[in-house]
Amino acid sequence: MQEEHVDKTREQVRARLAAWWEANARDLPWRFGRTTPWGVLVSEVMSQQTQMSRVVPYWTDWMRTWPDAAALAKASTAEVITAWGRLGYPRRALRLQECARVVADQYGNALPDDHDTLLSLPGIGDYTASAVSSFAFGRRVAVIDTNIRRVLSRVLLGVESRGGSATRAERDLANDALPDDTAKSVIWNQSVMELGAVVCTAKKPMCEVCPVSTCCAFLAAGRPGLGERRTRPRQRFQGTDRQVRGIVLNALRRRHDGGLTAGLPRAEAESLWPDQGQLAACIASLDDDGLIEINKDGSLSLPR
Ligand code: SF4
Repeated sequence: MQEEHVDKTREQVRARLAAWWEANARDLPWRFGRTTPWGVLVSEVMSQQTQMSRVVPYWTDWMRTWPDAAALAKASTAEVITAWGRLGYPRRALRLQECARVVADQYGNALPDDHDTLLSLPGIGDYTASAVSSFAFGRRVAVIDTNIRRVLSRVLLGVESRGGSATRAERDLANDALPDDTAKSVIWNQSVMELGAVVCTAKKPMCEVCPVSTCCAFLAAGRPGLGERRTRPRQRFQGTDRQVRGIVLNALRRRHDGGLTAGLPRAEAESLWPDQGQLAACIASLDDDGLIEINKDGSLSLPR
């Protein structure tokens, strides 16, 4: 019965989503063939754990400064961390630069178009390799992220997707739902992901304006379990090590932006956060991650 429903609605859903995408896709600067595969990769790395709309100004500045892998490979770590700004999770920036060095040195500054080779690059996991294969190179590959899992599970199976990593059943569902036609598969990936980002959101799906509402099994079933389970647990930010690390990095970015070459004196660093034990641990972890340097006099700098 469930399989029958999947088969019957799949074609309708594809057609409606394709039309909806055509009319409603957000005009993001890395879409519609306006950037290079490298630019698509940068957008995907920046968009992990950060909303796409927030990413746009960072991506635009970044690509203006470092339009390709070779340019980024040559940048100083301090410049890279400063340009990453408040996108969060700054280790992503370092991994992206590592990736740029490999692409520049080993692949002639051209991002490889083969899925397995993409996967072998620093910082590129299964999702990113699939997204770049589909969105940048037009390959037929199922892209599986939280939004896509949620939409497919709701529309085709009538249930909420589970949190955590993708299950085998969710992967099979995504692969089965992918259109055979390569060009249509790219639109499918983009449109399902977009629907999950702007309409079929985790907590408040806007079924009243949804293009697939008449063939959605989840809506037909009365949206069972909506709001009962978070796809991602809410993370407290205030007072966390993440906040403290961000405060230290921002202080160093401001100095770098202001042209100050001397390190941040230790006494000034200690005034950034009241809990000195937590602050010291965060400074040590930033150093371990290669995001800052602790100078001989105890002052702090961004890596050169
Ligand atoms: S009808 Fe509602 S639950 Fe179904 S896909 Fe659209 S927004 Fe999501």
